[in-house]
Amino acid sequence: MSSPNLLQRSLAAVWHPCTQMKQHEALPLVAITRGEGPWLYDAEGRRLLDGISSWWVNLFGHCNPRINAALRDQLERLEHVMLAGFTHEPVVALSERLAALTGHRLGHAFYASDGASATEIALKMSVHYWRNLGRPEKSRFVSLAGSYHGETVGALAVTDVAIFRDAYAPLVRSGSIVPTPDARLAGPGESAADVARRAATQLEAHLARHHHETAALIVEPLVQGASGMVMYDEEYLRLARSLCDRYEVLLIADEIAVGCGRTGSFFACEQAGIWPDFICLSKGISGGYLPLSLVLTTQTIYDAFYDDATVRGFLHSHSYTGNPLACRAALATLDIFEQDDVLNANRQRSAELGKTLQARFGEHPAVRHLRQRGMIAAFDVDTPKPDFSRRFFSAALDHGVLLRPIGNTVYFMPPYVLDDALIAHLVDGAGAALDEVLA
Ligand SMILES: *Cc1c(COP(=O)(O)O)cnc(C)c1O
Repeated sequence: MSSPNLLQRSLAAVWHPCTQMKQHEALPLVAITRGEGPWLYDAEGRRLLDGISSWWVNLFGHCNPRINAALRDQLERLEHVMLAGFTHEPVVALSERLAALTGHRLGHAFYASDGASATEIALKMSVHYWRNLGRPEKSRFVSLAGSYHGETVGALAVTDVAIFRDAYAPLVRSGSIVPTPDARLAGPGESAADVARRAATQLEAHLARHHHETAALIVEPLVQGASGMVMYDEEYLRLARSLCDRYEVLLIADEIAVGCGRTGSFFACEQAGIWPDFICLSKGISGGYLPLSLVLTTQTIYDAFYDDATVRGFLHSHSYTGNPLACRAALATLDIFEQDDVLNANRQRSAELGKTLQARFGEHPAVRHLRQRGMIAAFDVDTPKPDFSRRFFSAALDHGVLLRPIGNTVYFMPPYVLDDALIAHLVDGAGAALDEVLA
């Protein structure tokens, strides 16, 4: 049964995330009983193609046999131990492998459980770094217009999404916002790289005035996810890196959404040929299995904390820091990247996705700015209809696909397991949903 009972119990007892609960008077919850590959099944056996990787976390499908096997093995050995004063193979192996993926440029890994905590760790580390260097006045942050770095009180300081931030403004010590290099802002005859250069000039103007009080610039490399899959040219990252160097400001790459191969390279920054001072990872790193996040940083940062004085150390902690099960899921995820040559396979997959979207939506009269970066694709829908996002979501469910627009932006962020037939199913479902909503 699709258990109306379960839905009622959920509405009574569970306060669902990112939701005005009253809207569930009209919009039914969907109870999922089982997942397999890219599919989610409800109690009646109805299946949904997970076109957004369950909020961008699931890389290799649900109930992946290889990740399941790794977790079963880990369960029989060690489920958890505190990481202060103790260590274990999964956390060491994961740290070593991630360091290797940065070419050992960011060879120190600090762990937490969710993305917002990784943001906070990078913010705290950057301020503490300058303090340890005798420059405590460098304690402010810069982020891009439309940036999203999580919703805890600290992360909101660098998040620029009004609906997530405004109610809590009295709690938040907001950083500075500089213009986004959003490629859609290109004027006639302007390229995405031109927009990036213009935005970098504005960043430079800010840093020239405020560098003495600025600890770090934080960016979502290549794609600003939560504000609607805003895509920009990698030139911005190169310019931002060199401005940060010139003005002695640390660079934090929040790769929570764009890391783990999502944009085509394992780290999005690789496409710009730069390395930041901090990389935040979460979401896909555990294959979508368990809450895990981490911050990778450099020897330079690490050395500034290494001292006889306890208080010069980074004393931050979370109870589940470095949880062995989560680390083991991450190791199994990295194994799949290697064994299946996933970055290469995704080139083909994203080309097919792009081709199929272009064929279906390229000439659609309501579609604007069809865009793609690796395994993220999006377009904006020009419609005066209110409530587009919820209507589209419902219509897509009726067509067997899970898609959840951000405002009027429909986006695709599927797991890395779709073949051509499933890509066609996903795009067909989106097309049918769009035409239905606009009718
Ligand atoms: C999702 C996300 C976060 C926050 O991660 P949570 O696990 O939801 O706290 C931070 N930054 C970016 C870019 C994200 O997409």
